[in-house]
Amino acid sequence: MPPATSARPRRGEGQWALGYREPLNKNEENKKNDDGLNVRQRIIDIYSKAGFDSIDPADLRGRFRWFGLYTQRAPGIDGGKTAVLEPEELDDRYFMLRVRIDGGQLTVAQLRAVAEISTAYGRDTADITDRQNVQLHWVRIEDVPAIWEKLESVGLSTMEACGDTPRVILGCPLAGIAEDEVIDATEEIRRVHDDHIGSDLFSNLPRKFKSSISGCSSYCTNHEINDVAFVGVVGPDGTPGYDLHVGGGLSTNPMFAKRLGVFVAPERVSEVWAGVTSVFRDYGYRRLRHRARIKFLIKDWGPERFREVLEKEYLGYALPDGPAPELDPGLERDHVGVHRQRDGRNYVGFAPRVGRVSGTKLARIADIAEAHGSDRIRTTADQKLVVLDVEPERTESIVEALEAEDLRVRPSVFRRQTMACTGIEFCKLAIVETKDRGATLIDELERRLPGFPEPVTININGCPNSCARIQVADIGLKGQLVTGPDGRQVEGYQVHLGGAMGLNSSFGRKVRGLKTTAEELPDYVERVLRRFLDQRGDDEPFAV
Ligand code: SF4
Repeated sequence: MPPATSARPRRGEGQWALGYREPLNKNEENKKNDDGLNVRQRIIDIYSKAGFDSIDPADLRGRFRWFGLYTQRAPGIDGGKTAVLEPEELDDRYFMLRVRIDGGQLTVAQLRAVAEISTAYGRDTADITDRQNVQLHWVRIEDVPAIWEKLESVGLSTMEACGDTPRVILGCPLAGIAEDEVIDATEEIRRVHDDHIGSDLFSNLPRKFKSSISGCSSYCTNHEINDVAFVGVVGPDGTPGYDLHVGGGLSTNPMFAKRLGVFVAPERVSEVWAGVTSVFRDYGYRRLRHRARIKFLIKDWGPERFREVLEKEYLGYALPDGPAPELDPGLERDHVGVHRQRDGRNYVGFAPRVGRVSGTKLARIADIAEAHGSDRIRTTADQKLVVLDVEPERTESIVEALEAEDLRVRPSVFRRQTMACTGIEFCKLAIVETKDRGATLIDELERRLPGFPEPVTININGCPNSCARIQVADIGLKGQLVTGPDGRQVEGYQVHLGGAMGLNSSFGRKVRGLKTTAEELPDYVERVLRRFLDQRGDDEPFAV
């Protein structure tokens, strides 16, 4: 029985559960023709041996993503051509490779393996993403089997790192060690991963599906903007478990996730995750790609209807009502700096510039962690890294070693809170450059506004998508072409101001006239920040 809905019924949204099994667009047709997971064997048996030109286009621009592979943007194509060229004209013969790091959890050996892959096969490139992954570039198809072998030898993979699949599961980097965590979600992340990632039950979703499972008391995995999020709370009987949020997402039509109002006991997380993902698989809209995220289903159904379908059609039992998390507007969500673990040791969080590192740098981080007695490194959802388990007497030494590598443990506000997406250097959708602009912006703001007193998030995107979360930043910068001083179109940014997550969640305001050229970006941001300093009241946080 299709669920009743208060929204006007839409004709043929491609929902499987309503009988629309015939593909309604090219992407759905490709997925129906062959499961994305099957491309792995073709890469090993055929494409890596016969080379780039042997790759079936439906695999190259579709199924490769099921294993974290995207073609890079061919060098030298400016952002003005992004929308007008055919996809094959933008393709380079090299790949971006995304390594999924569920919960951001890495051992020294795993980090070393990623570092060695970067130096051997990726021209020493590496970026920490804001979903705790590591992305490498310049990968050749011929090298992919050797890369997988190396990753798998240390328990890592690229499976379902991209594509219409359940992507990496976000988790707090401090799971199991934080003094103030609500619940340690390590086991729940492991079970969801082991039970469901790579299963053909979930390898053909309407679109990408982003998960978070965390008991972090500062909500560092940003449950508000995940498709499904399990958020640590203390349940009705006083034991810890999870509050379930569904339908968050940014990009076009941004929406904060809605609470279903249920309490999920830890041992039920894996089956409830499978239930939510199954609702999305069966009822998600498949006709139009831009409406194929779970947030559109939640918007039309509302959380009550979603809960009813989840419980009646998929779980077969009712979940108990549960409390909401206690959000605090003043919390900083990253884990940068030196802080005490509950076992008396310290964790040390540090900031590269806008997530950009290198294979060489990752190898140095592994060496430094090991030399200071740690075997646990974590990536964060803010493009940062954390070394766990440092004895108090060795803490100052590790801080010095990291700072000597330009990995700031005590960063400026700007180094700490500026993020940037991949941008035009490698991304085929990009209109402007982001990483170098972000790094330059940090350096300029540190020079012009030393000791800036308030946290301020600055997020930079290379196009209207929101890989770097521009709508929830204090200052969000969306890459586009703008009119330069001489009247010509040049790289620039539409400015969004006043976005936030937490107790006062809101999307940044986009004001039509608020644009800057990339060239003038440091001047523009400096003006905004100086105006804030001039006009703010006592202890007033940054808000525009
Ligand atoms: Fe590419 Fe746009 Fe995402 Fe940046 S925001 S990585 S330019 S798709």
